[in-house]
Amino acid sequence: MNKLLSLFTLVALVATPLAHADNHGGNDEAPIALAIHGGAGTIRREDLTEEKEKGVHAALNAALDAGYAVLEKGGSSLDAVATAVQVLEDSPHFNAGKGAVFTCDGHNEMDAAIMDGRNLAAGAVAGLKSVKNPVKLARLVLENSPHVLLVGDGAETYGKQFDIETRPPGYFYTDHRWQQLQDVQQRDGVKKDSEGCGSPGFALDGFDPLSFGTVGAVALDRNGNLAAATSTGGMTNKRFGRVGDVPIIGAGTYADNATAALSATGHGEYFIRTVAAHSITTRMQHLGESLDEAADAVINTTLKNMGGGGGVIGVDGKGNITQTFNTSGMYRGFIDRNGNRGTAIYADEVPAE
Ligand code: ASP
Repeated sequence: MNKLLSLFTLVALVATPLAHADNHGGNDEAPIALAIHGGAGTIRREDLTEEKEKGVHAALNAALDAGYAVLEKGGSSLDAVATAVQVLEDSPHFNAGKGAVFTCDGHNEMDAAIMDGRNLAAGAVAGLKSVKNPVKLARLVLENSPHVLLVGDGAETYGKQFDIETRPPGYFYTDHRWQQLQDVQQRDGVKKDSEGCGSPGFALDGFDPLSFGTVGAVALDRNGNLAAATSTGGMTNKRFGRVGDVPIIGAGTYADNATAALSATGHGEYFIRTVAAHSITTRMQHLGESLDEAADAVINTTLKNMGGGGGVIGVDGKGNITQTFNTSGMYRGFIDRNGNRGTAIYADEVPAE
């Protein structure tokens, strides 16, 4: 009997590290799933050219391909979401990395976060001006620092220790986003103060239809681990120094193997005040709601009743995916547990390959 026990102990000791190792194949039969978004908002057919639509679908598909390849090889959900988000950050179509929106004084300030559902480890950064891929720096914070959130110069200096890739301001600039800033300031009749901004409260009064484009990814890997990542330039015409929901763990980004991984997009102030992503997991845990039901309650009731526009993507431990939003569109894509795949832009559109 004792011999049998010690044999079990030996097997357990040898097996445990393997079962938890990253990049280990896990169970080939175990489900994998990936969902991504490229921002929610007032996205109307009449405002998008065919070329823009094609560009968005191509970028979403490239992100799905890159993230799913990681999962298929038995890689971790953390690697998969980081990879997918990096692809979207590099695309000028989205409000993250290249193509980030402008602050009221005409700069780019980017926020990002990443979270590991295995152990609730999280890394986040805010107010970055030069880091090419903010999600990479968020991951460095997760893996190497005792902290969760680093901001501004301190975050950039931290990145230098790891030779994080940086770019001059011109890299992030796109005509499209610059024009959006001019349009919003003109529309709102902004009288600029000495700081180049307007009177308090002018910038974020209601969800700005011109601000969509935040990117995010959620994934389930073969080892049953969940992860989420989100990256954004924030909201057009935001006051410099403003931090949105994306790097606030539990608001715009959250992952817990016990419930779900979530990445949000929309008017960040509302997502912070409702702790939106975490509220979804709390509903699942304490009310027994499914991922879809919980996301629907938070996005279409709690947020909507407050006047908050936006959406969320999520995946649970079984590979169920939600893509829920209360706006006229959300750039989105997924590959589900059965390998079905789709991308879509508008609310009335069924995601298709
Ligand atoms: N949630 C982002 C923020 O408030 C913006 C967005 O998703 O479009 O910073």
